[in-house]
Amino acid sequence: MSTADLDRMLHPEEAREIVLRFAKPLSPELAPLEEAGDRVLAQALVAHVDLPPFRASTMDGYAVVHSDSMKSRQVLGSGFAGAESGLVVQPGTVTKIMTGAPVPDGATAVVMVENTRSDGSGVAILQQHVVEGENIRPVGADMRAGDELVAAGSILGPAEIGLLASLGHDAVRVGRRPKVAIMSTGDELVAPGEKPGPGQIRDSNRFSLAVAVRRAGAEVVLNRHVLDTERELRKAFTQALGAADVIVTSGGVSMGDRDLVKGLLGELAEVRFRRVFMKPGKPLNFATIGDQLLFGLPGNPVSCLVSFQMFVRPALLVMQSAPAEILPTVDVEISHDISSTDRIEFQRAVVWTGADGRLMARNTGSQMSARLASFIGSNAFLIVHPSETTFRQGTRLSALMVSPPYGNEPEN
Ligand code: AMP
Ligand code: MG
Repeated sequence: MSTADLDRMLHPEEAREIVLRFAKPLSPELAPLEEAGDRVLAQALVAHVDLPPFRASTMDGYAVVHSDSMKSRQVLGSGFAGAESGLVVQPGTVTKIMTGAPVPDGATAVVMVENTRSDGSGVAILQQHVVEGENIRPVGADMRAGDELVAAGSILGPAEIGLLASLGHDAVRVGRRPKVAIMSTGDELVAPGEKPGPGQIRDSNRFSLAVAVRRAGAEVVLNRHVLDTERELRKAFTQALGAADVIVTSGGVSMGDRDLVKGLLGELAEVRFRRVFMKPGKPLNFATIGDQLLFGLPGNPVSCLVSFQMFVRPALLVMQSAPAEILPTVDVEISHDISSTDRIEFQRAVVWTGADGRLMARNTGSQMSARLASFIGSNAFLIVHPSETTFRQGTRLSALMVSPPYGNEPEN
């Protein structure tokens, strides 16, 4: 591709399509059930048996013949969860039965203990009508053999893990977690524990990125800071390429004299695009080497995280065999005037349900690309397209929801 093509500013959607074209599901692996929570199910979970496999009582009470009209009935014995009683119920007889116990042969209903009374030699049923099947969970009531219970690509939550256990799986095929190498670049950066000298700042990106990577289900295999020298960067990239499926760097992709990541990516990898028509995050280098993905994110902390959310996260999900989970778009009404810029802007915003049920939005104040605090309390990105005029309060715009709307407008 020519440099002119590479420097074409892509619409964010087009850029994401390119990323997703190169993000390939990694081959699944077997995970022990105890460690499979929050991972992605690689193939659909299909029941191979009926559950429950026996008729089970849903109450503590007496197993009866529902059509029996005897006042007092003989108690043959007791049935507990975990064992067959071996008893057979006939008219005039009952068995005592506990929740979860198999219903004995012959019994057609269970009467709850509250509706019975012991009368010396036997038990009296106080309930007027007993319906056939009452308080019995029939065979297959929970699931039938052949039922598809969980679709491939689902994240395994508590219920999914419980179903796997019920069906006897002590291990499960899940999408492999992509191994991610994170590198922050910049001569000006010092570690959080150090005191910045004149002109220096603390490195925040590699720490915020690590959380974002893990939340996307991926594994951080390397996380370090690299100085803006060709030698250091080259060494760091070689190390990262040997260890990771995905490399995420921050900084060094703009037009500055020490922005060396851009050049190095061009040399080491196949660059797919370099600029996106969005704010924050215009310079974003995406490159590939075989199935390895390399993201050169901008250094400004906000640009870095917004770019991660828009492009890196969907790729990490797809690599785990999950849907890309593009953020859902909703219509919102802005509660204050908002002016636009020369690119599609993703403003960090608060979205809440207004008085009449309509979704309302406001931004989080200054939207400067260095102001990480603009994320705090936000649950959405407000999409502000370039426009000649200011968007007035009450205008309807679109927002990408990161988490559900607030019930009311939050205080801050
Ligand atoms: P760059 O993309 O390298 O030109 O960096 C753009 C801006 O982001 C500069 O002001 C940098 O100092 C700042 N920056 C770059 N990397 C980081 C980082 N890891 N943490 C905090 N700020 C950063
Ligand atoms: Mg830099």
